[in-house]
Amino acid sequence: MNEKLFRAIDDRRDELVALTADLIRFPTVNPPGEAYTPCAEFIANRLRKRRFETQLIRGQDTPGDSDRYPRTNVVARFDGRGHGPTVHFNSHIDVVEAGEGWTVDPYGGIVKDGRVYGRGACDMKGGLAASIIAAEVFMDVYPDFPGAIEISGTVDEESGGFGGVAYLASKGFFSKPRVDHVIIPEPLNKDRICLGHRGVWWAEIETKGRIAHGSMPFLGDSAIRHMGAVLHAFEEELFPALDRKQTQMPVVPEGARRSTMNINSIHGGQTEDFFPGLPSPNVADTCRTVIDRRFLLEESIDQVKGEVTSILDRLKRERPKFDYSIRDLMEVQPTMTERDAPVVTAVAEGIREIFGKEPDYVISPGTYDQKHVARIGHLHDCIAYGPGILDLAHQPDEWVGIDDMVESAKVMAIGLDVLLRGALRG
Ligand SMILES: [Zn+2]
Repeated sequence: MNEKLFRAIDDRRDELVALTADLIRFPTVNPPGEAYTPCAEFIANRLRKRRFETQLIRGQDTPGDSDRYPRTNVVARFDGRGHGPTVHFNSHIDVVEAGEGWTVDPYGGIVKDGRVYGRGACDMKGGLAASIIAAEVFMDVYPDFPGAIEISGTVDEESGGFGGVAYLASKGFFSKPRVDHVIIPEPLNKDRICLGHRGVWWAEIETKGRIAHGSMPFLGDSAIRHMGAVLHAFEEELFPALDRKQTQMPVVPEGARRSTMNINSIHGGQTEDFFPGLPSPNVADTCRTVIDRRFLLEESIDQVKGEVTSILDRLKRERPKFDYSIRDLMEVQPTMTERDAPVVTAVAEGIREIFGKEPDYVISPGTYDQKHVARIGHLHDCIAYGPGILDLAHQPDEWVGIDDMVESAKVMAIGLDVLLRGALRG
């Protein structure tokens, strides 16, 4: 039976390539959020012609939203015949800046050597195109299917998803009864199912000092030296402790299968460009650092924060004149969909049929829009599955393989078949 689906997808190989290239030609760079509206309209126009009901929804007053850079999302829905669940494919349409090092036009939609090149090819316009073709083919082959299919193109994933999936989730677009199953075609490789991601805590730590003349530092108190003590304690105690925290979550790559922390930035003392070329002659009265802590299902956010504040509090007791403040910048809970959840088993069946192997079940080291589906939408039947190769995301000469897109479109179509036609399959 699935032969029909497979043949129909093979027949649309060129269309899949052309659609991917067309999507890449919209330079939807974020920040600032360029070309969102024309890209969303392009998707809406295509799907409307294929009988989807489409809506353009602006993430009004979300970060970055302005009349110059409106946060325009598209949501399309096709109701089948008869009652049944809804499967939603969600892709972000924004891309990161091209950066240096390209040998092809990043927004040219160049096709060569079995690949489509361009910024966003793998992350994740190739995945979006594959899901559109999978849905359209499924609707053509099984016009009487029960339930509904939705496809969304959403903004701002690369900057947190606030004007995109978070906004739509707050309006009920990612909750029951409207939606039952969500597939996010992020580039996690065509034979892997991504069940979720680690948690995130970003915070800014500031140490305080007292300004004085740099020639008489003993009359002041250096906030930078205090921060040095903080970093020293992190090196001695915190980093080794984090390294020891292994997780049962199947995070890829292997190195991320534990707790990690990055020190994103550090700024101390007076600004260096106050007088261009003239460094500050003062003792630093302030020093700030931003930390990016990634945590595991096995850890609680309170525990994660407590590890840092206990070091800071101890320094306050032991180190003369040490004082600090800490400010939360971002908090995301880790999330992991159950392996026996319906969307997982449906896509797993597709992977088995297409690749003749068991899928790898993985967890993403960083977060993506699944966090909003889980936390705001309270929907836990959600995975990431798409054709792109994870390592190529955000790189120069980003590409997506045409065979990979065709194969993953087949997996998605089988996923639809299992979830929507279930018992009718034969
Ligand atoms: Zn992405």
